[in-house]
Amino acid sequence: MSKKLCNFANCFNYHSMSKTIIAGPCSVESREQLRETTEALARMEQVSLIRCGVWKPRTRPGGFEGLGEPALQWMQELAAEHGVNYCCEVARPEHVELCLQYGISTVWLGARTTGNPFMVEEICGALRGSGMNVLVKNPMTPDVHLWMGTIERLRDAGIGNLTAIHRGFTMYNNHGYRNAPLWEIPLILRREMPDLPILCDPSHIGGQRNLVAPLAQAAMQLGYDGLMVEVHPHPDNALTDNNQQITPFEMAQMLEDLLSTHRTIEGNEEALGAALAPLRQQIDDIDHELLGLLARRMKISEQIATIKQEMQTTVYQPKRWEQVLQDRQQIASSLGLNADFTKEILEKIHAESVRVQLS
Ligand code: PEP
Ligand code: MN
Repeated sequence: MSKKLCNFANCFNYHSMSKTIIAGPCSVESREQLRETTEALARMEQVSLIRCGVWKPRTRPGGFEGLGEPALQWMQELAAEHGVNYCCEVARPEHVELCLQYGISTVWLGARTTGNPFMVEEICGALRGSGMNVLVKNPMTPDVHLWMGTIERLRDAGIGNLTAIHRGFTMYNNHGYRNAPLWEIPLILRREMPDLPILCDPSHIGGQRNLVAPLAQAAMQLGYDGLMVEVHPHPDNALTDNNQQITPFEMAQMLEDLLSTHRTIEGNEEALGAALAPLRQQIDDIDHELLGLLARRMKISEQIATIKQEMQTTVYQPKRWEQVLQDRQQIASSLGLNADFTKEILEKIHAESVRVQLS
């Protein structure tokens, strides 16, 4: 068993892939809806836990806010009937206490809670000594330290079984996603906390049904330890997140497709190294060249700074910057480079050039 496998009591080793698959509706809406979803998911051997929202954090007031305690009662009854385990979001210490009362042993902290250290401390107080499994969604903002801080606080409260969930970030420009994935942030978390399992929540990243499978695929290609996916028997009628929930049938189909394109992170390291050696050499050479060019560019910026100072003109010259941006974007486009990527790189280089000229 991989050390990264989440240590849930019933965690299923997904076709020896050591993946943790969590699926279920965004919210519990009725006993019937929960029963129908549970029956479908209980038939999927890959699914080790059923997720469902009992208290819903709504961005604006007036929407469906979850059913609270009655939902927990149905979860307890259906868990006994179908031999499944449920998990739900907790956002207050009282939620933890109610979950314990109804035999829920896995909970998650939502994105809005992870970003709030005061609330995390309060929830830690309720979790201490409970032996619960805790999943921690990333905070809304792309701040890896806030995410790590919540994990550290839970660890300090004696929670041993922790798992992170990447659900994307709120950005001004989400590049077509509901929450920008910014894959580099969970990869930093992976580097900083190598033993922490990380699952991907493609539903909240994508925000649309047709993006769920490709995002899940990307997560598997990046070596994530599993998925949390929103599944509803009738997504169009869902009371929350109806655009992004998929049916149990689509979920089963997706898991089959993922299995057929399964990759391992370890692979055969030696054979992989040999096969990639010539290409990696070229990448190394290009990176060294790029860094050399950047250093040369910054030296020229220093000379420009001196001239601007002598001529008493401002460091930032909007007209010139506009021309540079346009010219480089045209070249980038003719070279087949991604427009957003190019713009981001150019803006970073320009910002550094301005910083150099100010120092
Ligand atoms: C959810 O899982 O339904 C939810 C509200 O998640 P998040 O905290 O990621 O927005
Ligand atoms: Mn949701």
